[in-house]
Amino acid sequence: MEKENKNKSALKVNKGVVQPKNINELLTNKSIKRKILEPQNYIDGILAGNRIILSKAITLIESNLQSHNKLAQKVIEKCLPYTGKSVRIGITGVPGVGKSTFIEALGKKLVKNGKKLAVLAIDPSSEKSGGSILGDKTRMNELSNEKNAFIRPSPSSGSLGGVANKTRETMLLCEAAGFDVIFIETVGVGQSEVAVHSMVDFFLLLMLAGAGDELQGIKRGIMEMADALAINKADGNNLDKAKIAATEYKSALHLFPTPESKWPVKTQICSATENTGIDEIWNNIEAYIKSGTKSGFFDEKRKKQLKNWLHQQLKSGLIDNFYQNPEIKLVIEQMEEKVESGKINSHIAAHELLNKYFNK
Ligand code: GDP
Repeated sequence: MEKENKNKSALKVNKGVVQPKNINELLTNKSIKRKILEPQNYIDGILAGNRIILSKAITLIESNLQSHNKLAQKVIEKCLPYTGKSVRIGITGVPGVGKSTFIEALGKKLVKNGKKLAVLAIDPSSEKSGGSILGDKTRMNELSNEKNAFIRPSPSSGSLGGVANKTRETMLLCEAAGFDVIFIETVGVGQSEVAVHSMVDFFLLLMLAGAGDELQGIKRGIMEMADALAINKADGNNLDKAKIAATEYKSALHLFPTPESKWPVKTQICSATENTGIDEIWNNIEAYIKSGTKSGFFDEKRKKQLKNWLHQQLKSGLIDNFYQNPEIKLVIEQMEEKVESGKINSHIAAHELLNKYFNK
């Protein structure tokens, strides 16, 4: 039977040439890939762990069409009771620090130990360029071939708030689809860390030895958010430097306030390419989760995050609605000109616009 099919195929495989394995065999089902389905089909598919359907639902979340977003919301709502059971880990650090290499090394270990891992990303560059640094690289090749790993690059357009919200919703669908560990990767250049921090249980900051904090673009605020630091590339000639840097960071951390979790912020060293120190980093994360679950801190943190997301969404909803209001659109440019030319104070202009919006 198999032989017969091969002979019928237009793509004849010559003897001795091995066909490459599909990155995700399920994605070859083209008929499902293109169609918009009924909400229940998405829900059933996601809960059954079907990745084609999961990917399609994520595409709806990422879409700029309102009809797609509405459908996505219906699906998310029904999936909500099945979310929340994964461990959510944020991973940050400047470009080149080794995030993808680290995620691949740790991810392969987790998958080998029977975990189902989803890797998502928030890439602030997409806001300006419409493109994505993270998406452009050929990344995590080995991990993406694993049946129990699901890698999804950052949504490619929209404001940071919008992109972060899409990533958070994607995370919820991945949880409903049965992924028990979620990595959310971000480039360590500022705002996106705050967004990721507000949706994860554990925030890991990857650093390099021998580069000053300034050079690494790491702001004090980001170090304060970290639940652990890991100095990567602790290998070869760099090993000693990494050990010294770890000692320096350990003493610097003493000056920081005690974290809310009460879990001491560890500074560890690792090499993502040599596969050293990775187990220790994961053991620390697991111990943190265990301790946080026992103390109730873990639940409290998630509750706070939910409340925070409600307010974020209220704010972005109000802002979008304001700027899309036809009356506001009509007058806002005139108001801008008046403010620029000094004819009106910005405070009064804002007040007038808001009064107009609220029909006062
Ligand atoms: P990202 O931009 O933070 O995702 O960094 P990448 O994972 O793409 O890594 C950037 C470069 O650093 C690549 O050439 C990696 O091979 C290299 N690299 C990553 N981890 C290590 C490590 O532990 N040791 C060494 N020596 N090189 C590494």
